[in-house]
Order: sequence, then structure tokens, then C-alpha cells
Amino acid sequence: MITFPQSSWLASIVLPHQPHFVGQPDGVNVLWGYGLFVDKSGDFVKKPMSACTGREIMTEILGHLGLAAQTRGILAHATCIPCMMPFITSQFLARAHGDRPKVVPEGWTNLAFSGQFCELPDDVVFTVEYSVRSAQTAVYALLGLNLTPPPVYKGQYDPRVLYQAFKTLHDL
Ligand SMILES: Cc1cc2nc3c(=O)[nH]c(=O)nc-3n(C[C@H](O)[C@H](O)[C@H](O)COP(=O)(O)OP(=O)(O)OC[C@H]3O[C@@H](n4cnc5c(N)ncnc54)[C@H](O)[C@@H]3O)c2cc1C
Repeated sequence: MITFPQSSWLASIVLPHQPHFVGQPDGVNVLWGYGLFVDKSGDFVKKPMSACTGREIMTEILGHLGLAAQTRGILAHATCIPCMMPFITSQFLARAHGDRPKVVPEGWTNLAFSGQFCELPDDVVFTVEYSVRSAQTAVYALLGLNLTPPPVYKGQYDPRVLYQAFKTLHDL
């Protein structure tokens, strides 16, 4: 992931190893990115990100990459699909115990909650793991299986992880 910290949209792009998709043709590359301040005017495209077409978003990103001069040529072969996700940070809202239901609330026998908005001990939202563990928890409980999902990795108790995090945070 590359963040452009000086960008008005606070834009980032993420470049996965290629090919990313099964069947992705040779010579086609994919990347994705996002901006957090979608109502601010861009630095190269003087429009808020939320009002931009895919081409305009790509133009802004190319500007931040220092490729403004090549924009025309790159855009001729690029497809950029914008997607608004106005509620995506809702998963990080502050919460207290009891705000979110347990996967299988007490006494329930035929209905469960899965996904990002149920309560799972120790787990971290905004992850695929959270949804998978909640679904596993639901299935095991409702079917009366004597199984538990794989344990949550607790990196916060690993001195090596803490040391690496400290180094990264302090730019060492
Ligand atoms: C930009 C971005 C980056 C992310 N990066 C990561 C990452 O690096 N690592 C990671 O682990 N997680 C990441 N996540 C989070 C992860 O993608 C999600 O937590 C996970 O996909 C949620 O899975 P889910 O099956 O619970 O819900 P979803 O994948 O949201 O599936 C819900 C499905 O229900 C469908 N649906 C909704 N309403 C209805 C309806 N009424 N009727 C029928 N169908 C309906 C939707 O169309 C959707 O297909 C990222 C998310 C985003 C948005």
C-alpha cells in the first residue's frame, strides 16, 4: 500500500502481486485504491473525489505518482471504476459491551448473526477472518458440533511483534 500523505483526498493505492485474479490475461494489471477525504477538491483535478469519474480519479492518482505528462497515454488503456462506500468506517464506531449481539444470543436455537457487527471475543473487525469466525461459530453452535474456530492470533502479546511495531511507529 502506498499513501500520498500530501494529497487533499488522502489517497492511497494498493498494488497486489500480479496476476491477482484467476484467468487474468497477460498484459493486464489491476490495482485498487481509496481516498478518505472525498469532499475535498483534488490537487490535480479541481473537483471533490465524490464528484469525479474514474478517468478523473486516475488523473489525480497519476499526478501524485509524478506521471502527469503520461496521463493521456495511460488513460487510453486504463479502466477505473469508482465506488462510494459511505458506511465503511461504521465498523470502527466506538462500542460498549452489549451493543452488538452475540453470534448466537442466549436461548436462540435456529438463528444467528454473522459478519462484522456481531460480538466475537478478541477478534478484530474489518477482516475476512471476523466474518469467517462468526459464521463458523454460528454453524458449530446451531448444529451442536463440538468444534471451535481457529484461535485469534494475539500479536499484541508477542514481544517480537511489539518491537517491530515500535520500530515502525518511530521510523527506526
Ligand atoms: C476497501 C476494503 C479493503 C479491505 N481490506 C481487507 C483486508 O486487507 N483484509 C481483510 O481481512 N479484510 C479486508 N476488508 C474487509 C473484508 O473485505 C470484509 O470484512 C468482508 O469481506 C466481509 O465479509 P462478509 O461476508 O461478512 O460481508 P460481505 O462481503 O459484505 O458480503 C455481504 C453480501 O451480502 C449481500 N447483500 C447485502 N444485502 C443483501 C440483501 N438484502 N439480500 C441479499 N444479499 C444482500 C451483499 O451484496 C454482499 O455480497 C476490506 C474491506 C474493504 C471495503
